[in-house]
Amino acid sequence: MKKMSQVLIESQTTRVQTTGRLINNTTKVKDIHQYCALGALACEMQLFSEKQSSYHEDETYLIQPTQSEILRAYDIESILDENIECSYCDGSYDEDYNKNGIYLSRDLSDYIVHLNDYHLKTFEEIGKDLEARGY
Ligand SMILES: [Zn+2]
Repeated sequence: MKKMSQVLIESQTTRVQTTGRLINNTTKVKDIHQYCALGALACEMQLFSEKQSSYHEDETYLIQPTQSEILRAYDIESILDENIECSYCDGSYDEDYNKNGIYLSRDLSDYIVHLNDYHLKTFEEIGKDLEARGY
């Protein structure tokens, strides 16, 4: 199985990155063309699926995995024993989960979202950060 960090580093050249949601707004798997880091990880493991609408025969909607399901697909529990300290917070940010302005979280998937959405780090930067942490 590929490591999370490897998938993200490879995604740098193969996938278009987005923020604020897992993927671009679509109802079909084949139409997915933008991904946040977690969305890229989910797509690599084919965790998105379609379900046909029970009201309209020709309509489908997309079923998205949860954050913890995405990490579990890589054999990683999202909730860790210890806090992760963000590599990029410099102490001057004002945010919800801070301690002296540094993001701390025991949820690895939340940390990935923090890097993607808050710091706007690229797939490659996020992949290298995770690689350094052993993922
Ligand atoms: Zn941070």
